[in-house]
Amino acid sequence: MPDIRHKQIAEFIAPFRVKPGARVVLSRDFDPAFKAGVRKKKDGEELLRRGVEMLSEFQEKLAAQDTYGVLVVLQALDAAGKDGTIRHVMSGVNPQGVEVHSFKVPSAEELDHDYLWRYAQRLPARGDIGIFNRSYYEEVLVVRVHPELLDTQQLPKASRRGDIWKRRYREINDWERYLTDQGYRLVKIFLNLSKEEQRRRFLARLDTPEKNWKFSAADARERGSWDTYQKAISEMLGATSTERAPWHVIPADRKWFARIGAAAVIIDALMCIDPRFPRIGAEQRQDLEAARLALEAEAPVS
Ligand code: AMP
Ligand code: MG
Repeated sequence: MPDIRHKQIAEFIAPFRVKPGARVVLSRDFDPAFKAGVRKKKDGEELLRRGVEMLSEFQEKLAAQDTYGVLVVLQALDAAGKDGTIRHVMSGVNPQGVEVHSFKVPSAEELDHDYLWRYAQRLPARGDIGIFNRSYYEEVLVVRVHPELLDTQQLPKASRRGDIWKRRYREINDWERYLTDQGYRLVKIFLNLSKEEQRRRFLARLDTPEKNWKFSAADARERGSWDTYQKAISEMLGATSTERAPWHVIPADRKWFARIGAAAVIIDALMCIDPRFPRIGAEQRQDLEAARLALEAEAPVS
């Protein structure tokens, strides 16, 4: 039976999807303050509550079926709400079935390998949901905005020639094709924050003692490269959104909306997998019956 909820969710997320091969201009094509007709924060919270329940329901089946793995790739500029989104969206799922990996500046050991190495090591197992808080897409974002980072990657001269970014897009697309062939479902989410909302959130981090720890001078410096980032992000979205692994640009100026947007995209992916509890064969059923008889025979005599 087709799930009516799936149709609603697919319609809800359609405006966020990046068309494969599209020429994206982030500021022109996607509005960080869009609310998709959800008027009040309170309505949004109710939607999120239902979304969290659905995630839990599907995650259990995904684990039981043990065939597909879901990889959620979460990208955003600083203060867009990646951590809060993960915390809220995943709040209802069994922690055994979810793993979160945050990627920082690569270590010496990581730099001593190919650039996809550290991400490949942290892929979720079949049946699991893995979340990449930042991802291999940093290799065409922060590294592109700061090309001196390439110098730390110990690449042979030939690998630096020509259009290295185009080549990386192709390599990433090839890798994702391989992963989807292997049974991974990729859920790629970009949380789209406006420059003004980032300014407000940075200020809140300075003004609120409980938020001081979140403020980093490095983040504030990155803000100086805002336009260069917007360009790199736009180009990346167009070049690496594919039929198998499309990007979704989620409006992030309202935290509550970013959370329902992200939840909806993940739920849609799970609904596409449509995981089922394994069916028990006749032989196994006999075993179960035998076990039941044995247990019943052990009942204390009253
Ligand atoms: P945060 O996510 O705020 O803890 O910051 C992690 C930092 O690591 C950010 O400043 C990223 O730009 C940086 N980072 C993540 N991946 C890479 C990478 N592949 N190369 C260089 N820097 C990275
Ligand atoms: Mg940070």
